[in-house]
Amino acid sequence: KLHNTILELKGNIRVFCRVRPLLPDDGPGTEPVVSYPTSTELLGRGIDLVQSGQKLPFTFDKVFSHEASQQDVFVEISQLVQSALDGYKVCIFAYGQTGSGKTFTMMGKPEAPEHKGLIPRSLEQVFQTSQALRSQGWKYKMQASMLEIYNESIRDLLSARSSSENLGAGKQYTIRHDSDGNTSVSDLTIVDVCSMKEVSALLCQAAQSRSVGRTEMNEQSSRSHFVFTLRIYGVNESTEQQVQGVLNLIDLAGSERLSRSGATGDRLRETQTSSHQCNMLMRLLQCQAINKSLSSLSDVIFALAKKEDHVPFRNSKLTYLLQPCLGGDSKTLMFVNISPDPLSVGESLCSLRFAARVN
Ligand code: ADP
Ligand code: MG
Repeated sequence: KLHNTILELKGNIRVFCRVRPLLPDDGPGTEPVVSYPTSTELLGRGIDLVQSGQKLPFTFDKVFSHEASQQDVFVEISQLVQSALDGYKVCIFAYGQTGSGKTFTMMGKPEAPEHKGLIPRSLEQVFQTSQALRSQGWKYKMQASMLEIYNESIRDLLSARSSSENLGAGKQYTIRHDSDGNTSVSDLTIVDVCSMKEVSALLCQAAQSRSVGRTEMNEQSSRSHFVFTLRIYGVNESTEQQVQGVLNLIDLAGSERLSRSGATGDRLRETQTSSHQCNMLMRLLQCQAINKSLSSLSDVIFALAKKEDHVPFRNSKLTYLLQPCLGGDSKTLMFVNISPDPLSVGESLCSLRFAARVN
């Protein structure tokens, strides 16, 4: 069934869809393969994927068309960001095939202020609000960490070590959760941050560390998950109230299937099946993500949305790392990024179906 209805009991999970504009690289004279059922093209709830002249309708909590600016998107998430200061655990993900606008949505283009993405905008808001709350007696301490998950291995992006050392033997980056729902990752660098300037410097360091790692290890950037975590500790000096919130901002690996981007040996290894088995599997599971953490994430979110008793958090590094921030009274927002390019229509359908499963 393509036409999805929204489950009433989906808890604290929201799904927003964002369509990027057509780009010059999409080919000349290209017509977008998405349309919107309402006349207001900026922000609605419906989106139609046009495949072979047929309109396939999908519904989300919100749909941002190609005309929505970074600010338009941020306005819709700023309350969620605020709730991390109120002591909630928050996860915001960007899901979609490579080239669909995940990094643009999360990080944006920091050099152009109007193109700044959700990560810098969210952090600016967190610092501004925490300053403003001082007048009510609140004092906040914040800590940032940034890591990457590639092939089910964690890499610390703020480590002073080189990336090959960082990933090498001895550094296990063991994930632990204590009984209070606090997560620790052994050996992970955690930095106290007090200002946007400090976080910006760390984001630059992380970006550099990612690209160096990429070159040294001969990796594809599209296959790693980027996880930014801000831990927020608040104390009210007059009421002695305490809050502990977490804001996780995650730029996921590309959701594309094997066939499109071409299978390399490394890529197949990740599936732990032979190439033949793999192709068979792919044919059977057309929309199944090849990345273990990505398919586990979809299983986890699906189980949470359906309020199933068993949620398979332990099946991947990403879901285990984020476990305390996904269940319970935490808040999750998934952006499904869509390319309007006709060449991507198959992948777009997979992404929309994935999200429809959650929604
Ligand atoms: P992904 O991270 O999913 O691989 P990117 O964020 O790198 O995709 O986006 C691919 C290209 O599309 C980039 O050149 C990016 O600047 C551009 N782009 C994506 N979304 C938008 C948008 N909403 N407005 C303008 N350009 C965008
Ligand atoms: Mg990207």
